[in-house]
Amino acid sequence: MGGRDATMVLLDENGVRCDGRKIDETRRIMIRAGGLKNADGSAYIEFGDNKILVGVFGPRDVHPKHMSNTDTGILRVRYHMEPFSVGERKNPAPSRREIEISKVIKEALEPAVMLEKFPRTAVDVFIEVLQADGGTRCAALTAASVALADAGIPMRDMVAAVASGKVADTIILDVNNEEDQAGQADMPIGYMPSLNKITLLQLDGVLTPDEYKKCVDVGVKGCKIVYELQKKALKDKYFGNGGD
Ligand code: ADP
Repeated sequence: MGGRDATMVLLDENGVRCDGRKIDETRRIMIRAGGLKNADGSAYIEFGDNKILVGVFGPRDVHPKHMSNTDTGILRVRYHMEPFSVGERKNPAPSRREIEISKVIKEALEPAVMLEKFPRTAVDVFIEVLQADGGTRCAALTAASVALADAGIPMRDMVAAVASGKVADTIILDVNNEEDQAGQADMPIGYMPSLNKITLLQLDGVLTPDEYKKCVDVGVKGCKIVYELQKKALKDKYFGNGGD
């Protein structure tokens, strides 16, 4: 954040971004429901150059037992980046960032999952980032929602996610890695469109109150686009010829 690369043109005079997109355009998004034979539910997402696989297991018994809750089920999320997922090899040990993102995604999914329907059990969500290019938490949250639905876990809605942000004093949709590094703000948003509820909102950078509102609006509009692709992935698996 904060203009680290002063030479990079993040937005040219025609309103074209460093990767050729318009200000309100997402990267190419491809979501596939299913694919992992040994998981109860799974999904794979390509969000620009992000490539992420999610496996869901459960509801299942909790070990150790004292971690279970007699009134409700629990959700456990592990976000993990492969060492080869970024240009410079990442240390395979869990980083503080991975622990934080695991928690953020768990808290963003909890309002969506009807945990009260399966007390004493756990639902485990394993997120494997195969390739990272800015916005992995949003892409992972989006894929995790599809994988939970694919596992047949009762849900109030799916959480769709995308980041909005600010580069060259302009609010943009779907912040890529360069824009995240050299831009002015990054706002990951997770949103349940049918319930009109935001379950994830973070902000890295500085915005005026008006820019903040615009960022939320642009992000929510982007989530609605992502949501259609989530539903399509499930329809393709269960009613079309995609999936397994
Ligand atoms: P998000 O992926 O949700 O945007 P961050 O803002 O923390 O989360 O990370 C932005 C991007 O920085 C990641 O998507 C990834 O491309 C890159 N990145 C994260 N961790 C590392 C790392 N250890 N080494 C190199 N690049 C990294």
